[in-house]
Amino acid sequence: MEEFQRIILVHYHEIGLKGRNRGVFEKRLQKNLEALLGAYPVVTIHRISGRLLVFLREGTTLEVANQCTDAILGVPGVARASCGFKCDLDIEVMGRAACIALAEAEPFSSFKVSARRNHTVFPIDSMQMNRDIGEVLCERFPEKRVQMKGQDVTVGVEAVEGTAYVYARSVRGIGGLPVGSSGKVVCLLSSGIDSPVATWRMARRGAVPIGVHFSGRPQTSDASEYLVDDIAHVLERTGCIGRVMFRVAEELARREGAGALVTGESLGQVASQTLDNIRATNDAVELPVLRPLIGSDKLEIIEAAQELGTFEISSMDAPDCCTLFMPRNP
Ligand code: ATP
Ligand code: MG
Repeated sequence: MEEFQRIILVHYHEIGLKGRNRGVFEKRLQKNLEALLGAYPVVTIHRISGRLLVFLREGTTLEVANQCTDAILGVPGVARASCGFKCDLDIEVMGRAACIALAEAEPFSSFKVSARRNHTVFPIDSMQMNRDIGEVLCERFPEKRVQMKGQDVTVGVEAVEGTAYVYARSVRGIGGLPVGSSGKVVCLLSSGIDSPVATWRMARRGAVPIGVHFSGRPQTSDASEYLVDDIAHVLERTGCIGRVMFRVAEELARREGAGALVTGESLGQVASQTLDNIRATNDAVELPVLRPLIGSDKLEIIEAAQELGTFEISSMDAPDCCTLFMPRNP
């Protein structure tokens, strides 16, 4: 069988990308992907007309391409990733590539073709591409239904600068903004469930998080330090955290040029997280204190921690300095 080079098209939301910000956003996302995909057979990453294009080495298997796609889906700023093939800008070749891509999208029962022509140099317009490639697919998959709305699979065909990209498997990413496009924040990381999720949420909004953990040593064991280290590694794998430091948060924020402190507090969750106490902590520091989980329920936070991969680590028992120095009435 004919072999096409595998590619992954990375889509991002263009809404909110105003004018000059856009280039910065794209370059940042490209850099973050390059840094994260070191372990995969990636040849190069290009920017083409509102998308990033990840080229995989010739001979990359579907399994590895899917793993690489999954890694991309968790990167802040990625709205969607589509796994497919690069091929010649020739309607017959595109039809053959579409057949392979669609076969890899099984199981499904309905599909449609959605073509996009970025270059008017290619003589066939997108409507005609839809019809031509749709016809080939109907012949190859006679048991499947063409459906214009609510279809299981959309076969994407993009004609860009003398080349075509064809894909069928397309999965929604976590969205947000690329880490590094919204400044720095200092995140107070306990070894608990909430603060890793709070850190992750700020990273998803494009902030570079600097983790700070207060150890209770020598009054406690060093267990919480190990747990926070593990948590930092999970966050790192998602391309989110820079490094963890064990320093006093605001002084550190100043030195790092961070614009805010971040905690995992949620209103009323425990006795120390009342409005009065929130005001008291705010009064103690000059920088704004951001609390991305303030309106979240514990169950929602637990689900988010499970998805992120920090829940199990956080569930391990580690006496931290807060339990140690906790007054009876906080
Ligand atoms: P978490 O699940 O994040 O530990 P929590 O529900 O246990 O939160 P608290 O113990 O009141 O709540 O802590 C509130 C916030 O203070 C935490 O989310 C975290 O941001 C910060 N914090 C608590 N303990 C530490 C610590 N040892 N080092 C750094 N930050 C901490
Ligand atoms: Mg805690």
